[in-house]
Amino acid sequence: MELFKTKIELEHALGRDRAVSLTIGFVPTMGALHEGHLSLVDKAGIENDRVVVSIFVNPNQFNDPNDLKNYPRTLEADLALLASHRCDYLFLPDVTEIYPEPDNRKFDFGPLETVMEGRFRPGHFNGVAQVVSKLFDIVRPNKAYFGQKDFQQYSVIKRMCALLGLPITIIPCKIIRETDGLAMSSRNTLLTADNRAVAPQIYRILQEALSESVFSTPEEVISSVREKIGKIALLRLEYFEIVDELTLQPIDSWEQGGTKVGCIAVYAGQVRLIDNLVFDK
Ligand code: AMP
Repeated sequence: MELFKTKIELEHALGRDRAVSLTIGFVPTMGALHEGHLSLVDKAGIENDRVVVSIFVNPNQFNDPNDLKNYPRTLEADLALLASHRCDYLFLPDVTEIYPEPDNRKFDFGPLETVMEGRFRPGHFNGVAQVVSKLFDIVRPNKAYFGQKDFQQYSVIKRMCALLGLPITIIPCKIIRETDGLAMSSRNTLLTADNRAVAPQIYRILQEALSESVFSTPEEVISSVREKIGKIALLRLEYFEIVDELTLQPIDSWEQGGTKVGCIAVYAGQVRLIDNLVFDK
């Protein structure tokens, strides 16, 4: 694995690879790596000649300064994990390398960003698009890998590529979970022991919602999820929506549109967790 801190050096190495027609797979991350990230790295390794991983905690996508301050940073452990997987190039830029000037670009994702994460984290997706578009510009991958845990982010990135006319295939990757069902997340390390103990209830309640959907309307399923989370003292529901996979708009009936996804955001103490489940019936 080669480490790069500047875009010039990384571009140089990738230029050499491109000249001999090697394909490039890219996995952008914010570090504090876990098996979820590594599943993306492995998939990129299977599908490409070169695997590029970036670790960059992007200040522009944090709408809460405390979240940015507390975000876990575990570079030594990250390096050790990547060393036991196939990562060819690791890009570790600092903030001025990515943002030599303030990035004032405004992306318009329309209805994709007015719901769920977009609604509760204003500016978040604009910041994500700023950093990912810059990273795409540097790496120019053939394929880029994104986890379905950040389901809405995947849709926004695909839309961003369409808006900017980028010839990059965006590959969705399935959610990797702890054995107790909790979706892996860098933020899980910030949970207190008590909150960690109740956090798997989120996935359990999503699974129950899926079972209930066989005999209940979407509205009834949503009320049931609200009620169940409400009964767990350490959890606070921010939203639960059942949305169409493509439009991300909430559905009123199971007959409407295509595949549906139940998406949830919950606070466990100070830590905000998201998860989702496909409601294929
Ligand atoms: P992050 O470092 O949180 O920005 O995540 C980097 C990438 O890893 C994103 O595409 C995430 O969706 C993906 N990712 C994070 N957690 C998981 C998980 N539990 N399963 C699959 N992908 C994940």
